[in-house]
Amino acid sequence: MRARKRPSVFPPPAGRTQGKGTGVLAATVCCKGVAIVHDVYDPAELQPASQRAGTQEVAFRRVVERAITVSPALRQALEAAGVSPERVTLADLPRIPLLKKESLPGRQGEAPPWGGWLARPLADVRRIFVSPGPIYEPEGRMPDYWGFAPALFAAGFRRGDIVLNTFSYHLTPAGAMFDGALEALGSVVVPTGVGNIEIQVKTLQDVRARGLIGTPSFLALVLDKVGERGARSSLEVGFVSGEPLSESLRTDLESRHRMRIGQAYAIGDIGLIAYECSQRTGLHVAERVVVEIVDPATGARLPDGEMGEVAVSFLSDLYPLLRLGTGDLSRIAPGSCACGRTSARLERIFGRVGDAVKVRGIFLHPHDLDRAMARYPEVARYQAVVTRREHQDELTVRLETGGPQTRLGGAVADSVREVTRLRAIVEVLPPGTLGPNEKKLVDLRKWD
Ligand SMILES: [Zn+2]
Repeated sequence: MRARKRPSVFPPPAGRTQGKGTGVLAATVCCKGVAIVHDVYDPAELQPASQRAGTQEVAFRRVVERAITVSPALRQALEAAGVSPERVTLADLPRIPLLKKESLPGRQGEAPPWGGWLARPLADVRRIFVSPGPIYEPEGRMPDYWGFAPALFAAGFRRGDIVLNTFSYHLTPAGAMFDGALEALGSVVVPTGVGNIEIQVKTLQDVRARGLIGTPSFLALVLDKVGERGARSSLEVGFVSGEPLSESLRTDLESRHRMRIGQAYAIGDIGLIAYECSQRTGLHVAERVVVEIVDPATGARLPDGEMGEVAVSFLSDLYPLLRLGTGDLSRIAPGSCACGRTSARLERIFGRVGDAVKVRGIFLHPHDLDRAMARYPEVARYQAVVTRREHQDELTVRLETGGPQTRLGGAVADSVREVTRLRAIVEVLPPGTLGPNEKKLVDLRKWD
């Protein structure tokens, strides 16, 4: 049998070998001369940042050279940036206009099915997925096309593990994304898909599955059902995506069911973007993409640590999307990670750009306000209002308490400041002032 192609877009560094799904034990030497062994799926995860920049530059050049004659969309993107295909480098990315995710249905409608971004012959596409929009997503024929194997490995999934894949196997790509990665790892897949909770639970127990992949809420549901049967779950590792994983849910599930739960950030157009390691210091950016944090209005790249929209360029021969504006808000986490992976890390996904309001240069999202208010169960309702006075943004949090008015104002203001880094004026209102359907974050600023 022919040897399988490596899942990474990069060739293995000389002197290192990798068994399929077994990971790599690579030693790095720390400051005191003590060798620390790091266990990763792909040795590229441990390469020095300068080496990564070089490898990604080579990959990007190769992608552009191949795609320029066959992808009209890539050609137009470079033209709009005023850079020549022969000389373009990754340093030119910020000059390329953002490709907004919400514009994809329209662009794909004009040039079906992929808006002119497909850069290989149709015969190189294995499947076409259909996500809400509709947005059509091509899946290439290479092993682990969606790139999840390093993320699953980091979460503790191994060769020979029996794993329930509870994501949908039709229309949207989530099921196929993990199926391909599990095959690359050498795990044993039970393709259960969504729903059928009773069958899922019985199957899990019958086959003694070690891993489960799905949404956090579905994982919680399955574990509850196993508990109802008075049985102990065989699950040791879980991997969740598709919705936010709250730390309280994770802590609860991990302690009650003696398992570890990992997570990743991915999108249907590209697959894996960033993933968590055992240190849980954020989400390591995958080797297969270039991630920028940008101003959603102008597309300008923001300095590390500033909150902005996640824009992703896909180093893919098949579907080389450049600067796809995901609509998700994040920022680069500071410092390095003790796990040995050297990639930049996204702190977490803070919400959607559309729901956020920029106040004094800081993105404020309703989720942040919810987190600040969660500490005060006596707050029955609240509404944050952004206004502008004498050319300064003002944030006012109006709240109602369930019982008699208490002296909450100062404490809530402190909590808002801690979570959002914004100073707020807090007004405690008589009960019944705020309607049940009022928006939690209102922008009343006028700019004309
Ligand atoms: Zn790490």
